[in-house]
Amino acid sequence: MSGKIKSLTLIFFSCFLLYGCSESSSTKIKENKTDPAVRDVFAMDTFMSLKAYGSDAEKAVDDAEKRIYELENELSATLEESDIWKLDNSDGKAVDVCDDTITLIKKAMEIGDKTGGALDITVYPVLREWGFTTGEYKIPEQGRIDELLANVDYRNITVKDNSVALPENAQIDLGALAKGYTGDEIMKIMESHGVTSAIVSLGGNVQSLGSKTDGSPWKVAVRDPFLEDKDMCVVDIINKAVITSGNYERFFYGEDGKKYWHIIDPSDGYPADNGIVSVTVIGDNGLECDALSTAFFVLGYDKTVEYLRSNPQYDVIMVTDDKKIYYTSGIGDSFQNISDMPAEVISVD
Ligand code: ADP
Ligand code: MG
Repeated sequence: MSGKIKSLTLIFFSCFLLYGCSESSSTKIKENKTDPAVRDVFAMDTFMSLKAYGSDAEKAVDDAEKRIYELENELSATLEESDIWKLDNSDGKAVDVCDDTITLIKKAMEIGDKTGGALDITVYPVLREWGFTTGEYKIPEQGRIDELLANVDYRNITVKDNSVALPENAQIDLGALAKGYTGDEIMKIMESHGVTSAIVSLGGNVQSLGSKTDGSPWKVAVRDPFLEDKDMCVVDIINKAVITSGNYERFFYGEDGKKYWHIIDPSDGYPADNGIVSVTVIGDNGLECDALSTAFFVLGYDKTVEYLRSNPQYDVIMVTDDKKIYYTSGIGDSFQNISDMPAEVISVD
């Protein structure tokens, strides 16, 4: 899973904290229906904040928190006895896994197909060789990368009903898409409790249910990839996921002085360096937006625009390594540039 507090911050975050403080320092029963239920959770190596409005909102965030831990226990590559850990230690034997794992593996394979293999969950051993799973970073020997790349190909995964088999020397991790799915699942729980207004931040992923209680859109800030702890733009969203992959999440500087980051190009086993330093995908489905944010980072600008031509249901905000912002016209009206970088609308048609 991804690390650190990440790319997107919520404009509402300061009031979020205020609510959090007033609640924890007060024992009085809330009578004001407009007070949200708030919850901070640390899971999947990520700080998560949940906020929901409604008479049953406390129960909704309780259940959402339980579901987050359940998903972490199923999907983590490092927790022993998770489905992914079992698969990664299966020596090529088929493993029975739960429905969530099947959903994610199938979606990863589908997006892998749609992006020409830019998303490939079997890249995990290469990611580990670079030290991105432990923090013991190093630039691997070319021979070692070649050796590991020989086993990278998600098309060799076999899925039959709830049984999955990996080739003997293959391993996977779902870090590219697990948090998007978790956000979707949280929103399902919110809805089942009658919540109609909610927002969650799972690291850099922000997902919203409905609008703010006054009917106005949520304002979500996207981080400036060139500046520590600074935002570059704000977008208005209602009922959408806003999911970012950036080169500032987990990285190190090699002895050669170059920066290396945690999104790997499966075509050469090196950190993807195709001109993009940050890409945000905005859409209805968190799982797809998360998978695509990682894939677009690998694909680069031109191939991402090409993808959007045949899949116009997503909006994106891309930042290129020459310090330019590009965004699609679907968010045009609400996009607010608060950085020093020039911002240009992408022409998708
Ligand atoms: P974050 O996890 O920081 O939110 P992403 O959603 O972009 O960022 O996912 C990055 C994670 O995806 C990496 O930490 C790694 O686990 C995994 N990963 C890296 N490169 C690829 C790739 N090409 N295909 C699939 N998964 C990848
Ligand atoms: Mg992703």
